[in-house]
Amino acid sequence: MGTQRTVYIAGAGIAGLTLALALAKFGTRVVVIERNAQIAEFGAGLQISPNARHALDALGLTDALSEKSFEPEGIDIYPDGRTEPLQTLTLGKIATARYGAPYVVMHRADLAEVLAAAARRFANIEIVFGVENFAVTQKDKGVAVTFTEAGSIDRKGTGFAFVGADGVNSATRTNVLGGPAAVYSGKIAWRTLVPPAALSGLLDLGRTSILMGAHHHLVVYPLPHRDAVNLALFTDARERDLDAAMLRQTPGLKAGPDRRLATILERAGETWTPWVLSTVRTPLWHEGPVGIIGDAAHAMLPFQAQGAAMGIEDAAILAPLLASSPDAGHAFTRFLALRRERVDKVQALSAANGRIFHMRWPATLARNAVIRAQGPLGHFRRLDWLYGYRTHTDPKS
Ligand SMILES: Cc1cc2nc3c(=O)[nH]c(=O)nc-3n(C[C@H](O)[C@H](O)[C@H](O)COP(=O)(O)OP(=O)(O)OC[C@H]3O[C@@H](n4cnc5c(N)ncnc54)[C@H](O)[C@@H]3O)c2cc1C
Repeated sequence: MGTQRTVYIAGAGIAGLTLALALAKFGTRVVVIERNAQIAEFGAGLQISPNARHALDALGLTDALSEKSFEPEGIDIYPDGRTEPLQTLTLGKIATARYGAPYVVMHRADLAEVLAAAARRFANIEIVFGVENFAVTQKDKGVAVTFTEAGSIDRKGTGFAFVGADGVNSATRTNVLGGPAAVYSGKIAWRTLVPPAALSGLLDLGRTSILMGAHHHLVVYPLPHRDAVNLALFTDARERDLDAAMLRQTPGLKAGPDRRLATILERAGETWTPWVLSTVRTPLWHEGPVGIIGDAAHAMLPFQAQGAAMGIEDAAILAPLLASSPDAGHAFTRFLALRRERVDKVQALSAANGRIFHMRWPATLARNAVIRAQGPLGHFRRLDWLYGYRTHTDPKS
């Protein structure tokens, strides 16, 4: 497999960096073009489920990830202002034993740094920062790429393939492939980190907690390596209210009868960063030697905590195809066949969770009965297809 083969990747996010690493291991030369001046994942946490963790472990990242991540023992579910959890879904060692990789939480910046540090060790990965105005055209069987890098330096090159891992508003999807813009989901995410002391006595900080109420839910988990707790609050919002919401640092949510939520909101104060949640549905994931992965191809609601996980899986599956296929179009066609059904299913599950988490009475009665009936291990049986999936990048597997 050719060391001469060059793959261009737009975006040094989680999907782009994972793909760069996975390709570099096959000896492929990789040029990552990133709009930001540096690796920039700020301000919030990420749950990495066993399916994604398994793919990252296969890239040799186990120790680096273990140093910076935390394994919650379970997920406490508190609907409708309950003081005790309605259910605690088991995670921890039982999840690790079942899936062969742990279910962890970590700070996004720590995951980005683990990926970037690993990428820096490969001479065949170049990350170019401060990139503007990239353009891609098909040339012979490959691509011709032009872009301007920091310092207004124009660059051009040719490659075997171009992969857009440039996120939900991907220019590769809209400008190069002529695909659709992302669509607003009707929901906003509000994110902040607070010191553990701010939640003392309110929640078990050895676990993840989900507080559900009408038109909102709050996800809480510890980030001990940052001495912080991650709060992600999701609210329903009309499109016409978005501009005003983006200017605020507080969700302005009325917690109603949920006294615990009211206290958390009060203690977090005006530290929140809003994020508009949009999704991507496009039939076109590639054309010839140009393709898209991660949020660029299938941004989803974060209510199954799988957006980054799907980008990681995409990368692990696409890399060997690009490294070994005779032409990139063939690799992308195979990639689509391997990925589409699974990603569609996860996208639909994530959207359904949004409806379930934000239910109002009396629909909540049936929902709560189902949560109670599934027991502490029911989610494993329901989600084995998701967490037990293998990308098969590990040559030992
Ligand atoms: C509140 C919230 C919570 C979430 N929680 C989870 C979770 O727990 N688990 C999980 O798996 N997922 C979660 N997600 C989803 C996850 O954050 C995304 O799916 C993931 O970050 C997407 O990765 P990506 O690499 O595809 O895109 P991005 O992370 O968006 O990276 C895209 C990169 O491309 C660069 N770029 C963009 N445009 C250009 C351009 N024109 N030229 C060059 N570079 C460009 C960007 O600067 C960026 O570096 C969550 C999302 C939200 C909003």
